[in-house]
Amino acid sequence: MSACSVRVRGVVQGVGFRPFVFRLASLHSLAGWVANSEDGVEIHVEGADTALATFLRELRDQHPPAARIIAMDVLGGEPTELHDFTIRESARSGHVSAGIVPDLAVCDACLGELFDSTDRRCGYPYINCTNCGPRYSVIEGLPYDRPQTTMRHWTLDEVCAAEYHDSANRRFHAQPIACPACGPGYALVTPDGEVHGSAASVARAAELLCAGAIVAVKGIGGYHLACDARNAQAVFSLRERKFRKERPFALMTRNLETARRLVHLSSEAESLLTSAACPIVLAQIFPSVELPGVAPDCGELGVMLPYTPLHHLLFRAGAPDVLVLTSGNRSSEPIAYEDDDAKRRLSGLSDALLVGERPIARRVDDSVARVGSCGPVILRRARGYAPGAVAAIPIDRPVLAVGGDLKNAITLVVRGQAFVSQHIGDLEHAQSLRAFRETIDDLASMYEVDLTEAIVAHDAHPEYASTFVAQSLSAGETRAVQHHRAHVASVIAESGAWDTRVLGIAFDGTGYGDDGTIWGGELFVGSVRDGFDRVAHLRRAWLPGGDAAAKYPVQAAAGFLAELDHARDLSSPPFEFPRRYVDAEQLVRHGVRTFATTSIGRLFDAAAALLGFTREVTFEGQAAMWLEHQARHGAPVGAYPFPFDGRTLDYRPLLSAVIEERRSGRCERDIARAFHRGVARGVIEAAIVVCTRARLDTVAISGGVFQNELLLRDLSEGLTTAGLRLWTNHDVPPNDGGVSLGQAALAALAGDNRRA
Ligand code: ZN
Ligand code: FE
Repeated sequence: MSACSVRVRGVVQGVGFRPFVFRLASLHSLAGWVANSEDGVEIHVEGADTALATFLRELRDQHPPAARIIAMDVLGGEPTELHDFTIRESARSGHVSAGIVPDLAVCDACLGELFDSTDRRCGYPYINCTNCGPRYSVIEGLPYDRPQTTMRHWTLDEVCAAEYHDSANRRFHAQPIACPACGPGYALVTPDGEVHGSAASVARAAELLCAGAIVAVKGIGGYHLACDARNAQAVFSLRERKFRKERPFALMTRNLETARRLVHLSSEAESLLTSAACPIVLAQIFPSVELPGVAPDCGELGVMLPYTPLHHLLFRAGAPDVLVLTSGNRSSEPIAYEDDDAKRRLSGLSDALLVGERPIARRVDDSVARVGSCGPVILRRARGYAPGAVAAIPIDRPVLAVGGDLKNAITLVVRGQAFVSQHIGDLEHAQSLRAFRETIDDLASMYEVDLTEAIVAHDAHPEYASTFVAQSLSAGETRAVQHHRAHVASVIAESGAWDTRVLGIAFDGTGYGDDGTIWGGELFVGSVRDGFDRVAHLRRAWLPGGDAAAKYPVQAAAGFLAELDHARDLSSPPFEFPRRYVDAEQLVRHGVRTFATTSIGRLFDAAAALLGFTREVTFEGQAAMWLEHQARHGAPVGAYPFPFDGRTLDYRPLLSAVIEERRSGRCERDIARAFHRGVARGVIEAAIVVCTRARLDTVAISGGVFQNELLLRDLSEGLTTAGLRLWTNHDVPPNDGGVSLGQAALAALAGDNRRA
């Protein structure tokens, strides 16, 4: 007989971990106990040696799907002659840092019951258990107990209560537990009246979808607008009503098989798609698939699988097997999640609303991820991931990092754990700004952080709304962190290599630089601990009209082409630049409303304009996405020159080549490809020069530009061949959604503020 105690840290609370330990111990006839602790789960087990060894192995290998073990410490112990195994109630002691659990897709056991006609929860849209269901989206306060969730409105009936208190049951302490007898239900609201009863309303909603209607559907973290993806008329009408011109729509398919027929899925992509987080996964569309209006001019589709019981019921009730499922809002507004607001805002956009009674505590969008050439990467971190811990930052003081104004998300560091919030959005919208403030209060109060003791980190941009808010908080201390250094630090934070000196490359659309100009093509040398020195950058160009240049690729083009040796007339074929180009040229020539920039994002816009994208972009990054899509179909022949002189990357030969080749009639797609290859080569050359000079072997890259898969693939191949190690983002987005994590790391650890 021997004994041991085990400390498990990670995502282990609220995910069915204690019942799992209980079952495992009982299976191996071990005695002892399991309890939630401040930072995870504590276990004491005693019994035969072989049984203990098996128990420990299975503890690590067979844990519940939603759990994530970050550390497991096993210590020897003395047998205390216990006779059974128990789940001990945890006395709430001191602080909470075990983390709030993200929302989880419905599990297989619950799905089995959902479609089992003999089960009391058959057809019940709110079925869940300790392994699955809502968490963050229903939590109103901590500790995570039913009275602190939006389920507090419903009193458990006897059967649910018995399950809830039975430590051997899958629903032991499942806070959102409910059944048709005691829990909330769904109703369908149509202009002709309401359909009551979950089954009837789901059946009617499915019928409406088949008939081409647009139905608003209440999900986990907000409302979606759904329609039949194969019904072009429905899709275009959704675009019209939502004021969403071209930005791709996400799809939900009936099952994995259906998804496999639409897009190319690697086994890694499939595991992402079927994971408990159940994100939208971006993947290459098969050329034969025709879904007019879903993702125009885009080689990828965003696909997700049903993740709530309601979604499964809708498909079972006969809804079309490929649905457009897009956030319930008008273009650029935040997603609706409160019922009254949804009815007001979505009634004009949808033909019917499928409204569930369980309130949503906070807005949580769908997450977006992709398996790229450097592995899986989250591009929008929200449902299923938020507000999980992504990194351990060694600092005792709390740190709040508020991110930037675009694709905002915030990070809160509590007792050394960095929790990243859900995607909040662009703060130029009043509603997003409100959500931003609420999220700060929300996380600070849930983790019991007193901001007057915290370090508050914000972007160095003096006019960002997030900067104003950060400075208005009565914080212990505020620190400004330069945007692109934060991008680089976000990559390093994921691995915790605080002292490793790296070449950091940050390429994006825009960020406030040390000199007050608009940066976006920056190379740094340094470490998080010592800070980063800017050692090189894109050759300076101009941004006529400031931020407006980001909306019009031809305007960005004017700011780059002004630096080329001879003026060119681009109004005639093959370019046919509109009048806006000439006006922008004038601004540059006279230095009116023109700003210096080193933005690679705008360089891609300029190239897109030269290859035919001369209209206004209707969403951020559209021109670059279009260019990448063209390049994918181009022949991988040649690479235009993008020379590096030790200090700057010169875009002039690159753009001259694009112009000459287009004039000479070369296929646009081939030119787009040679442009991409040229950019990659130039960056590889610059990386080799800088790494040799500074004796580095690691390159960390981040920034929105690196969402470009073609560029990333060429870069990773080239850097690997050159013997350099490449670090990229995985758990937080390379776009501005990851900036707050980098801010937190630099504010917490960088000794020298001028290099942060
Ligand atoms: Zn379940
Ligand atoms: Fe950025």
